[in-house]
Amino acid sequence: MSSNTSTLKLAAKTKLLNGGPLPTVIAGPCSAESEEQMLQTARELQKDSRVTVFRAGIWKPRTRPGMFEGIGTVGLEWLNTVKKETGLLTATEVANASHVEEALKAGIDILWVGARTTVNPFSVQEVADALRGVDVPVLVKNPVNPDIQLWLGALERLNQAGITDLGLIHRGFSTPNNKPYRNHPKWETIQQIRALAPGVPLFCDPSHIAGRRDLLETVSQQALHLGADGLMIETHCNPDKAWSDASQQLTPEALANMLTALDLDSEHVASNEQLQDLRNLIDKLDTELLNILFLRSDVSKRIGEYKRANGLDIFQAGRWNQMVENRLKTANEMGLQEGFVQAVFDAIHQQSMGIQNEVMASGSKVESESQSK
Ligand code: PEP
Ligand code: MN
Repeated sequence: MSSNTSTLKLAAKTKLLNGGPLPTVIAGPCSAESEEQMLQTARELQKDSRVTVFRAGIWKPRTRPGMFEGIGTVGLEWLNTVKKETGLLTATEVANASHVEEALKAGIDILWVGARTTVNPFSVQEVADALRGVDVPVLVKNPVNPDIQLWLGALERLNQAGITDLGLIHRGFSTPNNKPYRNHPKWETIQQIRALAPGVPLFCDPSHIAGRRDLLETVSQQALHLGADGLMIETHCNPDKAWSDASQQLTPEALANMLTALDLDSEHVASNEQLQDLRNLIDKLDTELLNILFLRSDVSKRIGEYKRANGLDIFQAGRWNQMVENRLKTANEMGLQEGFVQAVFDAIHQQSMGIQNEVMASGSKVESESQSK
């Protein structure tokens, strides 16, 4: 069956966004730990009118067994107490049919599908089937791996089960080099998913992208400048003592300060002359880089020809190790980040091996053609 997102009939905006202050701010702890922790956090959050939704994870998907895996069903009651006392809407993560049933029974306002669930179509389908015929907003986090189609597929499964009040949450991707983030934001994906799912509100979860407090503001700002409709930010009355994701949670007060510092203008396009000059310089340097890459490819080809003529292997481990060591030493002296330089040379080396493999293959083709004559 072909799947075309342009056929999706999605609500233009989730109910979350209607009439609320923009951007929509969802805040609350990574995990529900106790009624007291939930209420204290919520009471402090309620003082800030920009926060309209209270989040808390009840069932926690942990990477390794034996860690805190969520407080379970009792946390749903605490969410309801928060709602009664503060008027905040409530949101929690669901990963299977029984989570959905329990969350709906408890009257939770908004559900979200976590990154480790979006990655698995069977789980998403189970959640979608459990939601059939129900009118509840569902937010879908991107899958752990940078696969936009999988993200979109989850949205489609929910939509095909009749859920129209949908939203996306960008929480970053696990990539070979996430530094300095916990999960790489790959900002271009915001544009891509927007084009594939037009009209679906997009939230950013700076907490799981950053993994640490000091990056939250920069990440949030970048997301808002790219037009994010809202933010989901982990907030805890005592972050350092949090049972999960302690290093990335903010106090409600720190959250309020950060929201005040943010520029909420999504059309923020830098226009000053100095920036234009710097961009011209970058354009020039990039052209030089490309010229050098072209020249380097040509040398790789000649090396391939030499190796073919002399029966040498393409990959010479000693040479590669020595080369990496030298390049990293020079890069260190220049003050360049080691991981970055390593990644650049890995890519260059891959390309060079590809070129040399082609040279070898064309050589063996010539050889076999001449043998068959
Ligand atoms: C969470 O929101 O606490 C969570 C588990 O996030 P993610 O699914 O993005 O890892
Ligand atoms: Mn978390």
